[in-house]
Amino acid sequence: MDNLISLVNKIQRACTALGDHGEASALPTLWDSLPAIAVVGGQSSGKSSVLESVVGKDFLPRGSGIVTRRPLVLQLHKIEEGGREYAEFLHLPRKRFTDFAAVRKEIQDETDRETGRTKQISSVPIHLSIYSPNVVNLTLIDLPGLTKVAVEGQPDSIVQDIENMVRSYIEKPNCIILAITPANQDLATSDAIKISREVDPTGERTFGVLTKIDLMDKGTDAVDMLEGRAYRLKYPWVGVVNRSQADINKNVDMIAARRREREYFSSTPEYKHLAHRMGSEHLAKMLSKQLEAVIKSKIPGIQSLISKTIAELEAELSRLGKPIAADEGGKLYSIMEICRSFDQIFKEHLDGVRPGGDKIYNVFDNQLPAALKRLQFDKQLSMENIRKRITEADGYQPHLIAPEQGYRHLIESSLTTVRGPAEASVDAVHSLLKDLVHKAISETLDLKQYPGLRVEVGNAAIDSLEKMREESKKAALQLVDMECGYLTVDFFRKIPQDVDKGGNPTHSIFDRYNDSYLRRIGTNVLSYVNMVCASLQHSIPKSIVYCQVREAKRGLLDHFFTELGKIEPKRLSSLLNEDPAIMERRSALAKRLELYRSAQAEIDAVAWSK
Ligand code: GDP
Ligand code: MG
Repeated sequence: MDNLISLVNKIQRACTALGDHGEASALPTLWDSLPAIAVVGGQSSGKSSVLESVVGKDFLPRGSGIVTRRPLVLQLHKIEEGGREYAEFLHLPRKRFTDFAAVRKEIQDETDRETGRTKQISSVPIHLSIYSPNVVNLTLIDLPGLTKVAVEGQPDSIVQDIENMVRSYIEKPNCIILAITPANQDLATSDAIKISREVDPTGERTFGVLTKIDLMDKGTDAVDMLEGRAYRLKYPWVGVVNRSQADINKNVDMIAARRREREYFSSTPEYKHLAHRMGSEHLAKMLSKQLEAVIKSKIPGIQSLISKTIAELEAELSRLGKPIAADEGGKLYSIMEICRSFDQIFKEHLDGVRPGGDKIYNVFDNQLPAALKRLQFDKQLSMENIRKRITEADGYQPHLIAPEQGYRHLIESSLTTVRGPAEASVDAVHSLLKDLVHKAISETLDLKQYPGLRVEVGNAAIDSLEKMREESKKAALQLVDMECGYLTVDFFRKIPQDVDKGGNPTHSIFDRYNDSYLRRIGTNVLSYVNMVCASLQHSIPKSIVYCQVREAKRGLLDHFFTELGKIEPKRLSSLLNEDPAIMERRSALAKRLELYRSAQAEIDAVAWSK
């Protein structure tokens, strides 16, 4: 069974790996769906003996008369190499048997406990598990022998009861039937053949075993049987010579018994030509081959399960992002890369690849003009106000030709109010840019992974925006101040006739403050201020784009990068401290992936081997 054991070892390693995954319940069912091997046959036909030699261990009660009176479900469990062999009964949990003679005794005692010391049988199975490095995971079932008549102490129904019980085990499609027929009995009377033909008419899962060949009458032989002429099965018949009752009494061990069996077939003239396919060892090999075939048929299913899971694990790992580089240079590089991708996303928002940048244009196109409109210069230029400003500007000496000083004051005081909308536009764009930074941060996957870096990059970007806002405010206000500081001379030169009409120098000085004169001044100032406003409405956006939008696009993280060069290694690492939950998840996934990959390698090796 060496091949089978190594095959099973490989699959089992794969199973262990898969068992690590909660969802992969497909593998325990691999074992569930493996065939069980049941022995059927008449009383004392040698069932228990055959089972023992297949397992290669003495542990079953054997003898004449009805010995096996309860089904024995024997589960073989493969344990790690070097592990100590032991047996355990389901009815005696936690008691480990290392002495197999004691196991045999317990089977007898437990049989008696259920049936009493009578010849009765019971269909209640005894469950025995054997843990050994030298077995494969397999279930073997020893069944009570079929009888023809009830003997004393047995109820009349016993014949039918046993048959029903046996049938209930062997009718399952994944049960391999070892049909035991003693050679010293007429084949026509073989109970084993009768019942196995019933449940497996094509003989696909029936192995015919001929026992007690050594006990045949002198002058008769089993050649016709063994060559399949008497009764044909899919698999060739196997003849065995088990230990006789005398051998058992003398405690002849398994190894000696097998040697004798080999010698028997190779030295008996009738069987010499069949010797290569006779004996318990050959039977064990045949069974093991059959099991291999069954196991291998499950491999494609396992393979696809493994590769599906590997793909899932890889996908989740890549969603979680790469692990951090260990050295300082690598860390710096990672940070730069992450920042670059953040910067890229931020720019995409401004450039319209991603949404949000259009809101900035909305400030220039709607908010600023509306705010300028709301300034209502005409109120500022009420008759009263004009009169006040002009007389105040004149001081003790009323103006002679034109109220130069008054004009300036009126224009200046009107234009100063444009500072408000100019500042508001700067602030509005600033807050939009801030929104875009937050958006870009949350859209940069790698930043999710590193909360420390996320905060720092966010802060650095907002700080930069803040500085840009200050610069932009200065520039926008400067535009307004420039308009206050130097008036467009041409505008006033174009209205000399108005000056003549409104400020006719021939008028008496006291007429100079009359309503129509002042109204004219108001109209002139208003149209000048409106002209300037129209031009500011265009130049303020230019200034804002220049100082904030363009600058943010160009180097939002410039300052951060310069600082990064000076940063201490310790703080550098802390920037790349990952969310512990993510770190844990990644390392768990990576570990699982490794297990699965090795399982895949194991199973592939099995799949490609013959
Ligand atoms: P079971 O009732 O079918 O389980 O049969 P056992 O395995 O208990 O064997 C019944 C008796 O037949 C025991 O005394 C065995 O020693 C003996 N026996 C079984 N097989 C052979 C065999 O091939 N040759 C000889 N000489 N005795 C055997
Ligand atoms: Mg038996």
